[in-house]
Amino acid sequence: MASEIEVIGWAARDTLGHMAPITFSRRALGPRDVKFFIKFCGVCHSDWTVISGEVYNPTFPVVPGHEIVGVVDEVGSEVTKFKVGDHAAVSAYVNSCGSCRDCERKLPQHCKGKVRVYDSVNPADGLRTYGGYSNLMVVDESFCLVLPKNLPLDGAAPLLCAGATVWSPMKRYGMGKNGDRFGVVGLGGLGHIALKFAKALGMHATVISTSPAKEKMAREELGADNFIVSKDTKQMEEAAGTLDFIIDTVSGIHPLDPLMNLLAPQGKFIFVGVGLGKLQIDSLPMCFGGTSIGSSCIASQEELQEMLDFCGEKNLVCTIEKIPIDYINEAFKRMLKGDVHFRFVIDVGNTLKPQN
Ligand code: NAP
Ligand code: ZN
Repeated sequence: MASEIEVIGWAARDTLGHMAPITFSRRALGPRDVKFFIKFCGVCHSDWTVISGEVYNPTFPVVPGHEIVGVVDEVGSEVTKFKVGDHAAVSAYVNSCGSCRDCERKLPQHCKGKVRVYDSVNPADGLRTYGGYSNLMVVDESFCLVLPKNLPLDGAAPLLCAGATVWSPMKRYGMGKNGDRFGVVGLGGLGHIALKFAKALGMHATVISTSPAKEKMAREELGADNFIVSKDTKQMEEAAGTLDFIIDTVSGIHPLDPLMNLLAPQGKFIFVGVGLGKLQIDSLPMCFGGTSIGSSCIASQEELQEMLDFCGEKNLVCTIEKIPIDYINEAFKRMLKGDVHFRFVIDVGNTLKPQN
């Protein structure tokens, strides 16, 4: 049997989340595998959520990173979608059981046997999974996306989670069909790409933010039609009943009734943040308005590919701050303060080097 491949990366060793270099192994190329050199990896708030132990106890060391793009170096004998030199991408999971109802319905992101791209064990090889803060990926082609070649690799990286997570509910709830009025809460990694998608889908787009300083960027760089400061009750009241859809990307507990109040009758509120705890919402205005609440978890492989193809057609990528790998500890600190414009992307290809 071919021997495993040595990979270099950066890992957290405990829930303090300090990142430092590591070496680990990935499986040797199998017939259905794609091997690619990772060029860029986005830094998602969920990377921090996992390593800090906010939602469950991870098994350390954890090499985070689920917004992974690179250039194909080698393909297995049965691979059909890729050839050497193609641009490839991987999102938050790299395997699923393939036989449960969720897999049959092409919803592997909900499969109980889903293998996360990091902090899982992949039954395909028995190895622990490690994410994209590393130099090389080996993945079954069913979980590898074709990245349109016209897209710059750095700006495309965060599409693999930030983009996918907001694209999925946009499609599932049919947003953008009738010149809908859309609102996004929280202008971070997920929020800013939701805003770009909303405009590309022809919607009227409002940002609801805690940060007045983001208004200029939201309007001038991202095309927002309206900007509401959520702490300003007058602004919130003036916008009551105006939005058909809201995607809430906030990462912490925050009041929901003032946001629900922005919905037009039969409007839909979808939250994707993972740190919201138990939801508290006044039911009576919901009932009278016939409004709904939903949520969403990443995206299916089909939705991921559809979203990347859409971005290829529209030449649409994320607005990013490119950083060297050794800036990652500072990047986490800044992201937690909301100080990022709008997604950190690690320049893995140029800055991740073997340690002496
Ligand atoms: P991010 O870049 O940190 O952006 C979150 C934004 O929410 C901030 O920029 C800030 O925007 C606002 N915010 C943060 N804390 C707040 C608070 N306490 N109250 C009100 N507003 C607050 O994070 P992200 O990477 O976009 O991720 C957003 C959330 O989605 C995280 O919880 C992440 O774990 C989760 N996530 C979920 C999925 C999924 O599949 N469901 C996938 C990826 C990420 P303003 O300054 O504009 O207010
Ligand atoms: Zn993510």
